[in-house]
Amino acid sequence: MKRHSVDRILVGRTITLDGTGRIAQAVAVQDDRIVAVGSEADILDLKGAETRVFRTDGTIIPGFNDAHAHMDTEGLRDRFPSLGHVRSIADVLARIAELARATPPGEWVVTMPVGDAPFYFGGPIVLQERRMPTRAELDRAAPDHPVCILPPSGYWSLVPCYTALNSRALKLNGLDCSSTSPVEGVELERDAAGELTGIIVEHNYPDSAQIALLPAVPRFSARDRREGIVRSVRTYHAMGTTSVYEGHGCAPEVISAYRDLQQARELTMRMHLVVSPTWTTLDDAQLMMRDWLSYARGAGLGDAMLRIGGIFVSYGGEPTAAAAAMANPADLGWSCYVKQANTPAEFERLCMLAAEHDLRIHTIAIDKLHEILPIFERVHAAHGIASRRWIVEHMSYAAMGDLARLKALGIGVTLIPDYHVWKVGTRFFPLSETERALVAPAAQLDSLGVPVACGTDNSPCNPLATMRAMRTRRERTTGEVLGGNGRTSAELALRAMTQNGAWFSFEEHVKGRIAPGYFADFAVLSGCPLTTPGDALDSLSCLATMVGGRFVHGGET
Ligand SMILES: [Zn+2]
Repeated sequence: MKRHSVDRILVGRTITLDGTGRIAQAVAVQDDRIVAVGSEADILDLKGAETRVFRTDGTIIPGFNDAHAHMDTEGLRDRFPSLGHVRSIADVLARIAELARATPPGEWVVTMPVGDAPFYFGGPIVLQERRMPTRAELDRAAPDHPVCILPPSGYWSLVPCYTALNSRALKLNGLDCSSTSPVEGVELERDAAGELTGIIVEHNYPDSAQIALLPAVPRFSARDRREGIVRSVRTYHAMGTTSVYEGHGCAPEVISAYRDLQQARELTMRMHLVVSPTWTTLDDAQLMMRDWLSYARGAGLGDAMLRIGGIFVSYGGEPTAAAAAMANPADLGWSCYVKQANTPAEFERLCMLAAEHDLRIHTIAIDKLHEILPIFERVHAAHGIASRRWIVEHMSYAAMGDLARLKALGIGVTLIPDYHVWKVGTRFFPLSETERALVAPAAQLDSLGVPVACGTDNSPCNPLATMRAMRTRRERTTGEVLGGNGRTSAELALRAMTQNGAWFSFEEHVKGRIAPGYFADFAVLSGCPLTTPGDALDSLSCLATMVGGRFVHGGET
C-alpha cells in the first residue's frame, strides 16, 4: 500500500556515507530534500503518477563539496582568446596577427598564456625556441594594436610565469628602459642594450605583474566576473560538485557578483564565501571588524545557497606585492581575493581582534603550521576559539605533534592533495619517508579526529583527480609515491571530497550524506569510487549532478 508519492526517485547503486557503510539501491526526493533511502522495491513503493524516475548504471554519491575551490577563476579562463596549440614563435605570431585582423586598430589584443591548458607548465618551453616572443616580433605581427599575452596564475601552473607585450602595450603602460618593478619577484626582462624586451617574468604565486606594472591592460569587469561565475558553475557541476567553500576569501566585487546571481535565481551551486578584507592598517581592521563585517560573524549570514561568513587573514605574504594590490584593491587579476602581507605580530593582533568580534579566521599555513599554532593557542587562552571552527587552509607539510595540537583548538584543515602531492610533490622529496607521508596529511588528521576536507584549488577543478592524489600519492613527473603511509582509504578520499566539507560551513546536519532530511545533492559517477583503483579514478566521469532535487548537469530535466 502506498504511503504518499514523491517528486523524484533515483535508482542506482547509492553510497550513502551515512556512517554505517550502507550501500542502497534507490533514493526518494521531495522538494529539495531526501525523504527515503533503501531498496529499489521499497523506494518504488513511493512512486505516484507524477513521480519522475531516474535510473542509472552509475554510482550515486553525495555531491562533491570543493573545500578550497577558487571557482570563479574557472570561467575567467574563457574571457580572452586562447593562443591554441602553439609550438613555435611563428605559430604565436600567426595567431596574434589573426586576432589583430579581427580587432579595430588601436584596440587591445589580449590572449591567454603561451603553453598548454589547463596547466601551462613551463610556459614557452612548448615552443621550439623555448622563449617568449619579444616586443619586436609582436610589433611585426600587430603593428597597429597594443598586444598582451597574459601569464597564467602560478597556482594553475608553476612559477616562473611569463607575460609578453609589444611596443604599443609597453608605451600605454608607461614602461621604458628606465622602468623598474615595484614588486619583489617580478622582473622586467632587458636585452643586451638595456632595452625592455616586452617580456615580464613573475616568480610570485598570486600574480602581481599585471596589478603592479600594467594598469592599461584590460581588466576583468564586474560583468566578466558575473558571466565567468556562470561558466564556472556549469563546469564544476559537470564534475559532480554541488557545494563550494571559498576559504581563501572573496573580495567585495566577487561576493557582489554571487549576490547578483542569487537574486536573479541563477545560482545553482551552494556557496560559502569567506570575506577577503581590504583594510590597510590595524586601526582600519578594528573598525571593519566591529562595523561592516558584522554580517560575517559566527556561522555567517545567508541561506543554503549563498552564505557569507568568516574572514581570511594571511600569515606572511610579500609586502611589495600586497602594497601594489592595495593601491587598487578592485584589481584582483586572476585571484578572487585581495592580497595581504602580515608580520607574525600583526597576524596575532588581527587574530585577537577577530576572536573578540566572533569572526572566525581562515589562514593559509602551507608548511608554517608550527609558527601559526602558538599564536592560535594564545588567542584560544584569551578568548576561547575551540567551538568557533577556525580554519587552516592549504596545508602542505606539518609534524605529527603539531597536527595533534589542532584538535584542542577545534580547528579544521583543508588540503589540496592534487597540488601538493601530484603537482609539486618533488619539493618534498628531500624529506624523510615519515615526513613525506605528512604532506597533505588527510589520513593522519582524520585519525586524530581533526576535521579535514579537500579542495581542487581550481588547479584544475576535478575532484576525482584530488581523490586519486589522496589514494595513490603519486608525483606527476617521476610517478614516485610520496610517503606511501599517507595514502588514504577509498572511503576517506570520498568523504574528504564530499561529506567532510559540510562541517566547514556548519552544515553537517543537512549536507554530505544520503539520508532522510539531508539536501538532495548528488553526483552520479560512471563507476564506483570505492572499488575503482586509485590510479583509475580519473577515468570515471560524472553522468549527472543534482542540487536541491533538480538536475544541474545531465540526468533528465
Ligand atoms: Zn587558495
